[in-house]
Amino acid sequence: MTEKVRVRFAPSPTGHLHIGGARTALFNYLYARHNNGTFILRIEDTDRSRSTDAYIEAIIEGMKWLGLDCDEGPFRQTDRFDVYRNYVDRLVKEGRAYYCYCSSEELEERRKLALATGKMPKYDGRCRNLKEPVPGEIPAVRFKMPLEGQTLVDDLIRGTVVFENKQLDDLIILRSDGTPTYNFTVVVDDVDMKITHVIRGDDHLNNTPKQIHIYKALGYSIPKFAHLPMILGSDKTRLSKRHGATSVMAYYEMGYLPDALVNYLVRLGWSYGDQEVFSREELIKYFSFENVGKAAAVFNPEKLLWLNSQYIIHAPSEKLAELVMPFLVREKIVNEGQDLDKEWLCKAIDTLKERSKTLPELASSLRYYIAEEVEYDEKAKGKFLNEKSRDLLVALKEDLASISEFSHQELEKVFKAILERHSVKLKDLAQPVRVAMTGGTESPGIFEVLEIVGKEKALKRIEKAIRTIG
Ligand code: GLU
Repeated sequence: MTEKVRVRFAPSPTGHLHIGGARTALFNYLYARHNNGTFILRIEDTDRSRSTDAYIEAIIEGMKWLGLDCDEGPFRQTDRFDVYRNYVDRLVKEGRAYYCYCSSEELEERRKLALATGKMPKYDGRCRNLKEPVPGEIPAVRFKMPLEGQTLVDDLIRGTVVFENKQLDDLIILRSDGTPTYNFTVVVDDVDMKITHVIRGDDHLNNTPKQIHIYKALGYSIPKFAHLPMILGSDKTRLSKRHGATSVMAYYEMGYLPDALVNYLVRLGWSYGDQEVFSREELIKYFSFENVGKAAAVFNPEKLLWLNSQYIIHAPSEKLAELVMPFLVREKIVNEGQDLDKEWLCKAIDTLKERSKTLPELASSLRYYIAEEVEYDEKAKGKFLNEKSRDLLVALKEDLASISEFSHQELEKVFKAILERHSVKLKDLAQPVRVAMTGGTESPGIFEVLEIVGKEKALKRIEKAIRTIG
């Protein structure tokens, strides 16, 4: 029987959930779901000076928004210091780790000297064979790395990567202030949490041989590793704020759909033939490391925007109605708690889906459906609300007042009759009406707009346009 898959996302809460972290979380999540495994969230907050509760909340909020639900956790490393210390004691007792009394000043001096003389700045092993403790000094604990030979990392994405052991430092696993360090806690936790696959960014590849030796020293089997390719900006440097928003929740603010962002994130490294748009179910079904590339992925905000527009086009209007609500409130188009007729709102959204790339764009178009009055764009007003259109608008007002059903069909009839009577083209009437209805010159088809605006408001708006012309 094969072992049940257990994976973890292990962020350090020193910032918001960003694009890179979210991609790591997503690949873990998909691998777990694909294999009916367990997805664990572990907060690596041992660096107390940089970790905050607010960032922990922000990371959890980001994952929740993306729908990356974990099955266990969140665990916090700061709750587990006793566990780490027990493992440290065990390694010291077994001679796999040792007390180190070198002060940080001494270490810094030696490091500088090594650099100046062209040597590798690595701990020189001075305390490795100390027989007696130094009285009155609180030591750090270092792990004994092998001094020669090679360590092979078998990576599911990178293949076999070879490291020379003489490059590996006798790393500190417990600082003199009693706090354990990353490479050690990560191994202890991965062992305790029975992690089968370590899936993380490839900035951790160089840590992996060190961790492998710690597994071996503790006598535990080594999990499988999958190091995900880097994410670069358009200029091929590591993705950073210079390339645009990198925090996941910034994409919420900008009106992206979580599924669109998930779809975009998965393509940062993973592919499945030429397919670009995937449902969550498809992602879970198709995900495997075989289709994760080694090459760095380039973050392309335009493509993300395109994907978002695709998700808006294909989302059910009921869902968009829910998603757009906070933006309608934010843009002060509706008041908090204000009730809009659901069916009507969905119809309105139907007319705008194809024209909105983000939720704020959708909200801002909905403004002319929802608002009591529209404000004219000055240019549009100047161009279309003038003497020429006055008579047409007057005629339309009268004819519209007389129809009982404000349907596409009826509206079209009314328009046709006016066009014939006045010998003008559709656009001669439609554009002034569009300005009257929306304030601008771009909108869905004019009959659709009138239908959504409804008879009462439409007539008021035409009247106002006529008054504006004077
Ligand atoms: N806490 C590490 C980080 O945020 C991740 C460690 C790991 O996945 O092994 O980079």
